[in-house]
Amino acid sequence: MRNKPLLRSLVPREVGALATGAGEPAYRGGQLVDWVFAHGALAWDEMTNLPASLRTGLAAAWDLSALEPAAREVSSDGTRKFLFRLRDGQTIESVIIPMAEHATFCLSTQVGCAMACRFCATARGGLIRNLEAGEIVEQVLRLRHDLATDPVSGHGDRGENIVFMGMGEPLDNWPDLARSLDVMLDPDGLALSRRRIQISTSGPREGLQKLLAAAPGVGLTLSLGGVDDVSRRKLMPVPGRTPVAEAVGLAADYARAAGRRATVAWVLIAGRTDGVDQAEALARLMAGGPFKVNLIPFNALDDDDLVRPDRTACEAFQAVLTAAGIPVFIRDSGGRDIAAACGQLRRRRLST
Ligand code: SAH
Repeated sequence: MRNKPLLRSLVPREVGALATGAGEPAYRGGQLVDWVFAHGALAWDEMTNLPASLRTGLAAAWDLSALEPAAREVSSDGTRKFLFRLRDGQTIESVIIPMAEHATFCLSTQVGCAMACRFCATARGGLIRNLEAGEIVEQVLRLRHDLATDPVSGHGDRGENIVFMGMGEPLDNWPDLARSLDVMLDPDGLALSRRRIQISTSGPREGLQKLLAAAPGVGLTLSLGGVDDVSRRKLMPVPGRTPVAEAVGLAADYARAAGRRATVAWVLIAGRTDGVDQAEALARLMAGGPFKVNLIPFNALDDDDLVRPDRTACEAFQAVLTAAGIPVFIRDSGGRDIAAACGQLRRRRLST
């Protein structure tokens, strides 16, 4: 059977208009919007205060859900990793990282990825397709439901942070990313603050330009992995086509316009990206700019000779940036025991 269009690929105003378009009074539109976004309904029969005729009519024309849970793993550090099966049988990953006051939700924007980064598990299978806005939005609702049914002890209820650090290159799927942001930021949608959302990108030029023009005000993380064009291209062949200076310049323009620092993510790989000389070059590149730096020690893949540096090397790298006055943090990814780094769970499932 062919899929129907996905209801949550619409923005709240459009969803509300479906009820009024079916001849219902305006307040029915508001009730429908509440079910779809605030409650995150996954079945039509949850919408108990709507007339059955309206529900049946909508169900004949629209799909309410596009994600089916296919796997859920919980790490000893509390990180929860999900594999979702999409309507076409493809799979994507999402992650919950519980923190003291809030949870961080890590979302996918594509099935696979075309960037071919050497250190990334998602890159191995190439790009399969873009996610639809509704498939991006539904990840948030599924993760919210998971936390509601199985709360994390010691974890506060201050809402969630959203990071687009799952599978895919978000800025290569701009129209659907932008639409999902509209839904997330809309008070009638997911009602999230722009301060709680981070787009992480390898920095393709066209994508950065579209982001700059749209100015959504959300946070930006630029994954760098090399200070000069030659070394960056070795690790990140596709993003490396945009010169480092240009990607960094566009990120700085965006940060200034948004009024918040951009983050530079730097994956630390032993003997490749962890040298003190590179830390010094990175410090020069960041000097005076609206940046902070997150250092991510490499999460080893199963088929590769790349190696994670030891803690001393990570701290030596950090010290160089600190001495240069640049805010810098070491971000060890959660859930190492459940293969929670980008694309690792899906990869394991596909190969077993
Ligand atoms: N394509 C986007 C978002 C997905 S990758 C981007 O490049 O930002 C999210 C982050 O995970 C990036 O900073 C990337 O450098 C990092 N990453 C990917 N694989 C990793 C691995 N095996 N170990 C450590 N960090 C990794």
